[in-house]
Amino acid sequence: MNKETKTYTIRVEKLTDLNPSVKLFRLKFQKPFVFKAGQFAMLHLQGEDGEPFKRAYSIASSPKHKDWIELCIRKVAEGLATSILFNLREGDSLKLSGPLGKFHLKANVQNDVVFVAGGTGIAPIRSMLDTLPLAQLKNNFYFYFGINTLDDFLFQDELKKFEPLKNFKLILVVGNDPRWKGDKGFISEAVMRKHTPDLSNKEVYMCGPPGMIRFIKAYLPNLGAKPEQIHIDAWE
Ligand SMILES: Cc1cc2nc3c(=O)[nH]c(=O)nc-3n(C[C@H](O)[C@H](O)[C@H](O)COP(=O)(O)OP(=O)(O)OC[C@H]3O[C@@H](n4cnc5c(N)ncnc54)[C@H](O)[C@@H]3O)c2cc1C
Repeated sequence: MNKETKTYTIRVEKLTDLNPSVKLFRLKFQKPFVFKAGQFAMLHLQGEDGEPFKRAYSIASSPKHKDWIELCIRKVAEGLATSILFNLREGDSLKLSGPLGKFHLKANVQNDVVFVAGGTGIAPIRSMLDTLPLAQLKNNFYFYFGINTLDDFLFQDELKKFEPLKNFKLILVVGNDPRWKGDKGFISEAVMRKHTPDLSNKEVYMCGPPGMIRFIKAYLPNLGAKPEQIHIDAWE
């Protein structure tokens, strides 16, 4: 842990169901919690046997808010932490440490930026997007968002607000949903080649499950991305 990492007692202020398996947790601090968009927090929990354990969650809200954060959490079947978290009620208290992690935007990046997220991997990207004055920036922003079905299209209304911007493009890739007529399956090399064929001058920020990250990281060099341009938040 670095010196900015502290332990806090927080209160569950608001719970919102984003879909049947994903909840947004708004957690309230008693003193300011300062972090960079892209970082994560560690929740301190206790199993039924009384054993303490911790789980990491990316901060999904903007660093502009200093007295609360939001976490966007998917329920995992038989998951130790998520079974506890999905039983929390508004008003409950919890211990949290943070901020942690080096996954954050380079300052004043001039290059085009490619965000890639799978499912709840949108969490740190949502936080990053909120810090960017997109309308005033000259560089282009692409966001590949991989989801299973359209019911997993988290923060749809917020993302729609970026649609009028000429320098922002959302590329939704939907695994399997007959309602979807756009890109289907995984965020494959073919899909990326179609929308961003040359990554040699772009910064790539990826977040999501380890399998997705491994799959995409393997083909990025074929599109010209060098290792120093690839920034990864793998949830391993
Ligand atoms: C930096 C970071 C950021 C993250 N951010 C987020 C986020 O924003 N949102 C989010 O939803 N998640 C996030 N995660 C993942 C999160 O930390 C947890 O791993 C996730 O919530 C599952 O925790 P759990 O305790 O409920 O599941 P676990 O109990 O850890 O189980 C995970 C899976 O393993 C299986 N399993 C458990 N024990 C066994 C066993 N003995 N044998 C076989 N299988 C087993 C379970 O059935 C389940 O499928 C992040 C992870 C990291 C590292």
